[in-house]
Amino acid sequence: MEVLEEIPSRVYRFGDKVADGNSKMKNLLGGKGANLAEMCAIGIPVPPGFTITTEVCTEYNELGKETVLKRIKKDVEKAVENIENIMGSTFGDIENPLLISVRSGARVSMPGMMDTVLNLGLNDEVVKGLAIKTNNERFAWDSYRRFIQMYGGVVLGMKPKSKDDIDPFEEIMEHLKEKRKIQLDTQFTIQDLKDLIYDFKDAVKKRTGHDFPTDPWQQLWGAIIAVFNSWNGGRAIYYRKMNGYPANWGTAVNVQAMVYGNMGENSGTGVCFTRDAGTGENVFNGEYLINAQGEDVVAGVRTPQQITKLGSKRWAKLAKIDEIERIEKYPSLEELMPIIYTQLHEYQGILEKHYLDMQDMEFTIQDGKLWILQTRNGKRTGAAMVKIAIDLLKEGSIEEKEALLRIEPNKLDELLHPVFDPVALKRVNIIAQGLPASPGAATGQIVFFADEASKFRNTILTRIETSPEDLEGMNLAKGILTARGGMTSHAAVVARGMGKCCISGAGALIIDYKNRTMTVDGKEYHEGDWISLNGSTGNIIEGKVATSEPELSGEFGEIMKLADKYATMKVRTNADSPKDAKVARNFGAKGIGLTRTEHMFFEVDRIKAMREMILADTVKGRRNALEDLLPMQRSDFEGIFEAMQGLPVTIRLLDPPLHEFVPHQLATQKELAEEMHISLQAVKNKVSELQEFNPMLGHRGCRLGNTYPEITEMQTRAIIEAALNLKEKGIEVKPEIMVPLVGTLNEFLEQEKIIRSTANKIFEEREDTIDYLVGTMIEIPRAALLADSIAKHADFFSFGTNDLTQLTFGYSRDDIGKFLPIYLEKGILTVDPFEVLDQEGVGQLVKMGTEKGRAVKPDLKVGICGEHGGEPSSVEFCYTTGMNYVSCSPFRVPIARLASAQAAIKGTL
Ligand code: ADP
Ligand code: MG
Ligand code: MG
Repeated sequence: MEVLEEIPSRVYRFGDKVADGNSKMKNLLGGKGANLAEMCAIGIPVPPGFTITTEVCTEYNELGKETVLKRIKKDVEKAVENIENIMGSTFGDIENPLLISVRSGARVSMPGMMDTVLNLGLNDEVVKGLAIKTNNERFAWDSYRRFIQMYGGVVLGMKPKSKDDIDPFEEIMEHLKEKRKIQLDTQFTIQDLKDLIYDFKDAVKKRTGHDFPTDPWQQLWGAIIAVFNSWNGGRAIYYRKMNGYPANWGTAVNVQAMVYGNMGENSGTGVCFTRDAGTGENVFNGEYLINAQGEDVVAGVRTPQQITKLGSKRWAKLAKIDEIERIEKYPSLEELMPIIYTQLHEYQGILEKHYLDMQDMEFTIQDGKLWILQTRNGKRTGAAMVKIAIDLLKEGSIEEKEALLRIEPNKLDELLHPVFDPVALKRVNIIAQGLPASPGAATGQIVFFADEASKFRNTILTRIETSPEDLEGMNLAKGILTARGGMTSHAAVVARGMGKCCISGAGALIIDYKNRTMTVDGKEYHEGDWISLNGSTGNIIEGKVATSEPELSGEFGEIMKLADKYATMKVRTNADSPKDAKVARNFGAKGIGLTRTEHMFFEVDRIKAMREMILADTVKGRRNALEDLLPMQRSDFEGIFEAMQGLPVTIRLLDPPLHEFVPHQLATQKELAEEMHISLQAVKNKVSELQEFNPMLGHRGCRLGNTYPEITEMQTRAIIEAALNLKEKGIEVKPEIMVPLVGTLNEFLEQEKIIRSTANKIFEEREDTIDYLVGTMIEIPRAALLADSIAKHADFFSFGTNDLTQLTFGYSRDDIGKFLPIYLEKGILTVDPFEVLDQEGVGQLVKMGTEKGRAVKPDLKVGICGEHGGEPSSVEFCYTTGMNYVSCSPFRVPIARLASAQAAIKGTL
């Protein structure tokens, strides 16, 4: 690649097959700017321009407008001159004007979250020159109309004041359309456009108190500052928070020569994908509009047409449009402009080969010439992500390790949720069909406004179309349904990014925001009515539909198999029942890392015996009650052991404080008193006796087993007997008995003694033995500090990072909600430490505990069983610490398996 000499530091130019930047410079130039430079350098036709770096945005936020404009003024002027030279026209010139676009672009794509201004450089004089130069008066005035509208909205703040208001410019246009009895913007006459411009400027003057700026340079500086400001706009901030992007990244500003898709029937604009972003299928697809500019395609105002003939036919079928009407009104680009189509097809091939990933591109056709305006790695659903990675691998474009690294572990979550039950689907009432914009299944109650998306537990956000303002509501809703817009509409693109089920362009829906109704074929649906969406077919279904469990099949199965090939650290699951254990095994769990025995005690028939045990005043009384619990507990363990078929199972002895088991309501207390033949007062006394000020720091964990050894005895018996029973059935089990909340060595030794002596007693009784382990949780900082002395006796360690986080930070997990949101807001904490393991602090204890333990027992088995075991960055940390396994909830097992493989791959790179 040829490089321009003397690269300026704040402004990077591109144009005419040379560029200062390249695609690797995303942090500095933003994704859009870096890729514009790269495309330019590899010979793709890109209108010339330049990028003001993201660092300037940060400078602006710190130092303010005046300083920053002074710093970039010279460089920007020079860079504009460079565009002028390439284009052979002059910015602000009346006879031969150059118009430009001013585009935002952060290092990661944030579609629609920030602002862009097109057709900049126009005023009352320049527009006349443009009309003469292009010999296209209508085009010139249409561009001017668009410019005032965009600049007014983005730079001058001409936006609707509340959600019921309509856009001030749209209002003026609607008014004129009504008067002129027309529907489309393209039907405005030149005089109409002139009238609109007059009214627009008038509205600006009235609302802002200033005239619309006529000086092109003043317009340019205003737009640059507005783009910087959009980085701190409400939409952008919400999007950043949702994705965990820091505020100090900033946005770049791309200034670029305009190319015009609105010059007439030989011009147009569109968006395309090298593969299907919903399913991952390797088919080129996209949408376009003739005689249109910029956002027209995604704005959902006109019905966009398909780029390929195949796509067009598929679309027509769903939209119930016959072949004659399709060819006449909605032909594909392939049919309408075959030469342009061939070029576009060639460029999409070149770009995908160059970036080795699915590309999402923007293009514009100006009077028969094709220009590419943007390319980026396309956003995709979880299913598409997996399929594309596997396909690229099979095509030989990427290697196995790269394929695995292409998978975002958390995005697999989408594939792990229920889908519509195929049997239930046969009986449903399909009320309408739209475009399958983002696959998946969603059932919920209708809401019509984004800010009401949490009005019910499960909602379907139902709108004519969505806009970037609706982002938060879209995130909260279970599914998104729009009456307008195509496969590249805002709703569709955003929903796919979120992995949320979405149906767009369901033309049969008549949505009335005011009355909060949706009418289909004369039948009215109201807010709160249940509907279901099948995002894979576009079917809109009346009422709720039953769902069924997902499976690890097809490409998903292949990716997981590949993950196991590279992962060295195993993934176990936290499971308290045979059902959970089975789900986890189907998801590939290699054992159970945590069975919480107490969960079994909450079931109806058991809680009674448990309460009896707690209320008993004597050891004898407790033993009696425990005897009732023994068979139940034993059969639970048998079920779990059986489900795991010989894989290791770690069982934790009773952990929670006893007051969690006693009734706190008067009626239940009375019932218990009657059943146990004691007085209500006696029950009440016991309940208040168990009350503690800090129950999480109180009488729980091994402190229970050490004060009531008979509980440990009973639990050990249940575990060992269950294992022996299974052995008789031919299933070998090696239970791992885990002592919770150990802080001192003696706490562990006391428990170990009880466990081993109980086990020996049973072996004698049964004249048979099994192998078992006795280990401990490391969840009290003191245990991590003294891990070497504990490891001399314990067979294994399992880091309980929930309690360890609680005790290291001194935050109560149950009360953190009172200050965490504010801490996150102020940046005192960057993440919730109960979600993402605090590697810096808590991580030290985990590392130290592991190292000290292994120092005395090199083959000490070490794992983690907190919620962190299924969080990708924490899984990576566990790998670097040298753990044998992580354990997480069943539905996160595939995520952890992938994260484990990625950690191993990164470790060898
Ligand atoms: P976003 O990041 O929201 O997609 P863009 O900066 O890409 O915003 O621009 C919005 C729309 O304007 C896109 O459709 C883009 O293709 C179009 N556009 C941007 N710059 C130009 C230009 N120089 N000529 C023609 N169309 C442009
Ligand atoms: Mg764009
Ligand atoms: Mg704990």
